[in-house]
Amino acid sequence: MSVIYNFSAGPAVLPKEVLQQAADEMLDWHGSGMSVMEMSHRGPEFMSILAQAQADLRELLQIPDNYKTLFLQGGGLGENAIIPMNLVGRKAQPATIDFIHTGSWSGKSIKEAKKYGTVNVAASSESTGFDGVPDPSTWNLSADPAYVHLCTNETIDGVEYHFVPEIADRTNGAPLVADMSSHILSRQIDVSRYGVIFGGAQKNIGPAGLTLVIVREDLLGHALPICPSAFDWKNVSDNDSMYNTPPTYSIYIAGLVFQWLKRQGGVAAMERANIAKAQLLYDYLDSTDFYVTKVAPQFRSRMNVPFYLRDESQNAAFLSAAKERGLLQLKGHKSVGGMRASIYNAMPIEGVQALVEFMRDFANAS
Ligand SMILES: *Cc1c(COP(=O)(O)O)cnc(C)c1O
Repeated sequence: MSVIYNFSAGPAVLPKEVLQQAADEMLDWHGSGMSVMEMSHRGPEFMSILAQAQADLRELLQIPDNYKTLFLQGGGLGENAIIPMNLVGRKAQPATIDFIHTGSWSGKSIKEAKKYGTVNVAASSESTGFDGVPDPSTWNLSADPAYVHLCTNETIDGVEYHFVPEIADRTNGAPLVADMSSHILSRQIDVSRYGVIFGGAQKNIGPAGLTLVIVREDLLGHALPICPSAFDWKNVSDNDSMYNTPPTYSIYIAGLVFQWLKRQGGVAAMERANIAKAQLLYDYLDSTDFYVTKVAPQFRSRMNVPFYLRDESQNAAFLSAAKERGLLQLKGHKSVGGMRASIYNAMPIEGVQALVEFMRDFANAS
């Protein structure tokens, strides 16, 4: 089979080495005589897999001791309800939640949170087509919100925060809650600047089914009475992510990805590689008017690169020619159209080179 590069936004490409190791261990994990899928989550084999994955994640992101890492189910959208159910109880009801609206995913979070609190959209880039992040000095923040929600990488719109907003003194120290579903582990972050970091695994970590929550300890223990016990973070934390059955196989694959990341040199090395990959693609996009990008340069995502053909009648021809070259899943999200190349950690630079070469050839032939 010729080389294939998969640009899916998620579920997305995984490192080949990880898939090969999972295949090798599929029927018999480490001489246990069992597949990981067949193990009790409370047995010593799986407990060791979970402990190793937790330790490796903490090391990769340098997570401070006063933060818990929770392995849950429910996905990013599930968290849109689970977060307010866990955090609005810190304030008198009805509490206010501040949001920064920078694209589709923060939009969905806003919609869901309205069921649990009074939503204040402190800033929005909707009127300019989600082309970036409004300057924090213009954010119309509440004086004492339960928390401030950001989506630090908008997977559909291709907008990424390359800064952490400094707004604590304007919000009575409200915790920042960041949806990092599609760029966690792609760059170095200072976890201590956030109250909660969350994300579904299926973009940049592992298979669908696992949802990661990193939460500062003082934010535990405030769940509303209506919060399902299995999603009360304190309950999950007190039970080491084993209050109910966690997504065991997804945790196992995520653990293999964490080990792969450590072999690559960790998150700092990944970040350097991701900068180089993104630059290669954006430099080409900036050099031609055959393709169009809409996001302002200082907010461009390193992970998800949406672009349009100036002549959109060629979209179908573009996608089928790309597929013939082994370049898969380049179609943009249906809500915005066009194309999107997702170039997560597991996408090698050779894949981006192949994409740019193809895009140049397609433009020249048209
Ligand atoms: C994919 C995605 C989600 C939704 O995740 P699900 O696991 O499908 O619920 C939420 N936020 C962001 C930023 C995403 O990329």
